[in-house]
Amino acid sequence: MMMDLHIHTERCGHAAGRPSEYLAEARRAGLEIVAFTDHLPLPDGYDPDEEYAMRPAELGEYVAEVREVAHSSGAAPRVLLGIEADWIPQHRAYTAGRIASHAFDIVLGSVHFLDDWVFDDPRLIDEWSRRDVRDAWTHYFETLTQAASSGLFDVMAHPDLVKKFGYVPPGDLSALYEEVAAAIADAGVAIEVSSAGLRKPCREIYPSDDLLSAFCRAGVPVTTASDAHSPREVGRGLTEVRDAVARAGYTKIAYFEAREMREVAL
Ligand code: ZN
Ligand code: FE
Ligand code: FE
Ligand code: ZN
Repeated sequence: MMMDLHIHTERCGHAAGRPSEYLAEARRAGLEIVAFTDHLPLPDGYDPDEEYAMRPAELGEYVAEVREVAHSSGAAPRVLLGIEADWIPQHRAYTAGRIASHAFDIVLGSVHFLDDWVFDDPRLIDEWSRRDVRDAWTHYFETLTQAASSGLFDVMAHPDLVKKFGYVPPGDLSALYEEVAAAIADAGVAIEVSSAGLRKPCREIYPSDDLLSAFCRAGVPVTTASDAHSPREVGRGLTEVRDAVARAGYTKIAYFEAREMREVAL
């Protein structure tokens, strides 16, 4: 089943295109299920340039627009109402409240903030050369597992986003990956396999083959996604994503409807 469960819109301030344009591309690509998952408004002070997420006043309009597109789409592709929410530990209540304010089908949880450092923002890439890469990775995966255990999210998006700019600690990462996979399995959430990394300096699917295999062995369900930020990116790289999923040992992939997981054959 061809599914792309992570799609943005121009509302977030760093993507282009309206939902209807993304839907047209999804139809052209022959996708069966898509989820709009634009960035949930951030707490006060976290998005000073309005470039990370939609503004608070836009959330209701976003929901209405996705519903309208879903209605107009009819049977194929099926359109799910989703949201991508940042995990910011000290703002759990804010995030929970925003998520609860609409009847989402699917809620992606993302770690883009390590304390006040938006580690995946290309404008802040210099910070990587000032940091200890291993410490950054440890901090990232601790934050990811904390997010997974928060109860707020259905799917952890781009689970090794920390590698985006190609800063990877030397040595064997298998012990770290086993630990992460076990913690995510305990948390009872799915993880996303995303082609977005193929279009970034790391040139690799999120997550890596090694981490994805660890997730498979731990029994963590997976979704498939492009993280499209322009209509032409919808469905992009899904073949590579599906190959990676199969290579890791999966035979099923997941989607969410009214926040209930459904699994279908890959
Ligand atoms: Zn984005
Ligand atoms: Fe993200
Ligand atoms: Fe995204
Ligand atoms: Zn994303």
